[in-house]
Amino acid sequence: MNNKKKRVLITGAAGFLGSHLCDKFIEEGHDVVGMDNLITGDLKNIEHLFKRPDFEFYHHDVTKFVHVPGNIDYIMHFASPASPIDYLKIPIQTLKVGSLGTHNLLGLAKQKKSRILIASTSEIYGDPLVHPQSEDYYGNVNTIGPRGVYDEAKRFQESITMAYHRVHGLDTRIARIFNTYGPRMRLNDGRVIPAFIGQALRGEDLTVFGDGKQTRSFCYVSDQVEGLYRLLMSDYELPLNIGNPDEITILDFAEEIIKLTGTEQKIVFRELPKDDPLQRQPDITRAREVLGWEPKVSRTEGMKKTFEYFKNLTDEELYNSEHKDFTKHNRL
Ligand code: UDP
Repeated sequence: MNNKKKRVLITGAAGFLGSHLCDKFIEEGHDVVGMDNLITGDLKNIEHLFKRPDFEFYHHDVTKFVHVPGNIDYIMHFASPASPIDYLKIPIQTLKVGSLGTHNLLGLAKQKKSRILIASTSEIYGDPLVHPQSEDYYGNVNTIGPRGVYDEAKRFQESITMAYHRVHGLDTRIARIFNTYGPRMRLNDGRVIPAFIGQALRGEDLTVFGDGKQTRSFCYVSDQVEGLYRLLMSDYELPLNIGNPDEITILDFAEEIIKLTGTEQKIVFRELPKDDPLQRQPDITRAREVLGWEPKVSRTEGMKKTFEYFKNLTDEELYNSEHKDFTKHNRL
């Protein structure tokens, strides 16, 4: 697609999406500078890249001044906690990385004359009153709810990005990422796919929150990464939804996982977390038009690959998957 070798800074490089992006850019022949403070990321995700001459890594917190020597053509800002239980555990860091972190990276992009793509989210639509969600919908977010720290940080992130675009002429891209899954998701991040698969593998019941009628639309990681890459290489400067419109209720999804894993466990119901969106499905009309992109991997195929990944985790990873002790990082 793009034959000229570029140098790209990827923040959140040791995370789920960040690490797959590192792989993608290297595969496309670019030099990658990864950055992560490793609070929710894991070096295991990028271990295979460390021996390569086209990969460098900085252990750094982007809410502090970011310095990278040399030229940077592209910045992919993917540093952020990204699961509801992380926002609850580290709400202030979540707010800071979306706001202060983004400000630092926009400053870096301005100084280095880099193109910057920021990872926004379907969460900016909150608990949506419009279905499916197109980019024109302004959203329905509870500013002070438990998810507000993520949603509002990401909304601020979009605003400051557009301000830098308008005021400084910065070359910006904004991806609104919908639920994405695949290998390297953190088993203990609390999100529904690692939660259900982990439960099935440990022989525990599957915990469906609420009545399970809430919907999500899951995009396999290779499709997501392809969409993000194309958006970066496009000249589209407004926010763009990237996700898979194939929508399913969480209850039906739990049934699918029971079939896939062959577990004999049953479904148990737990309280619905506050402000849990009742429905979510991306309208990707614009991505289809602008990027000539749409997801290719079906849920059946993607879930099979994802299950393979989780099946190969060690027992220690499977059973000792308590949350990291975030309190150590309170001063970030
Ligand atoms: N969920 C569930 N059981 C779990 C974890 C999550 O029923 O053990 C539900 C959750 O309430 C939400 C959906 O699955 O409705 C997706 O949750 P996730 O945390 O993966 O992402 P979200 O889309 O809410 O950010």
